[in-house]
Amino acid sequence: MISKTGIPVIDAHAHYFTADTMKNWLTRGRTVKSFTSRTATRTDMTSIELPDETWDTGQKWVDELDKYGIETMGVMVGVEAYDEFLETMKRFPGRFIGYANINPKEEDAAAKVKQAAKDGFKGIKLYPSSWTGLKVYDEPCYPVYDACLANDMLVFLHFGITIGGQADLRNGNPIDIQVPSKDYPDLNFIIAHFGAGWFRELLMMQYQTDNVYGDSSGSNSWMKYLPYDIDLKQIFRKMITTGGSHKILFGTDSTFFPRGWRINILEAQVQACNELKADGVINDDDIYKMFYGNIKEMAHL
Ligand SMILES: [Zn+2]
Repeated sequence: MISKTGIPVIDAHAHYFTADTMKNWLTRGRTVKSFTSRTATRTDMTSIELPDETWDTGQKWVDELDKYGIETMGVMVGVEAYDEFLETMKRFPGRFIGYANINPKEEDAAAKVKQAAKDGFKGIKLYPSSWTGLKVYDEPCYPVYDACLANDMLVFLHFGITIGGQADLRNGNPIDIQVPSKDYPDLNFIIAHFGAGWFRELLMMQYQTDNVYGDSSGSNSWMKYLPYDIDLKQIFRKMITTGGSHKILFGTDSTFFPRGWRINILEAQVQACNELKADGVINDDDIYKMFYGNIKEMAHL
């Protein structure tokens, strides 16, 4: 399948957000009002359709993928959306990659990883920026990494700033994954959103490790919160010159409707990479890997 931008594309990072996900958020003390006001000031969304029971979420996403020629979308799946997503994976073979949201503080976290692998998931998602009193190098995380290694699961990590207002950014520095990456040289750790603000630290990890990757997902609006000017082209250039194109995975962070699949993110990142190609920094093979080949290989698609 070839995307609207003329290249094959797999979206390595998006979300599977259902009516049950919404309910779960609300029961955790968030209100629709605080949620919509935060998305209005911190994202590019002007409106949100809140999912309800009448939604066929899987079909909605597949329609979006077909519209733009996107082969597959990798999605983070919360426990409340888990069963619904399993059905969706079965209904639409090859169109979704599942990553199970895991909280290492839960006693059965490692068992959940094992079960997810059995169910066809290809990785897990950890959200250290939202943790309290836990670092990714702390002891409770190690059984989770063991289970990931034993079951060939990718480890996605959201460090850095986040739309969640209750984040504890003391746990948000990607440098924290350096020791686990050394302890698990055969496990692949993927830092979402190029570190969401801790870009210098992500670049240092390119030097220090062979198994820490960066995903490009989202608007990368964290750029606005740095004390210097930087743009997408410079971000890709730095990542490529420090780590190489095999260390970058394209993603959109698509989550909500009516926004749907974020074609504007693909277009902007393809444009940045085409400019780098014109500058002689990368070639077509690099572009192929970042937008398609790397995740295909890493998730064994
Ligand atoms: Zn995300």
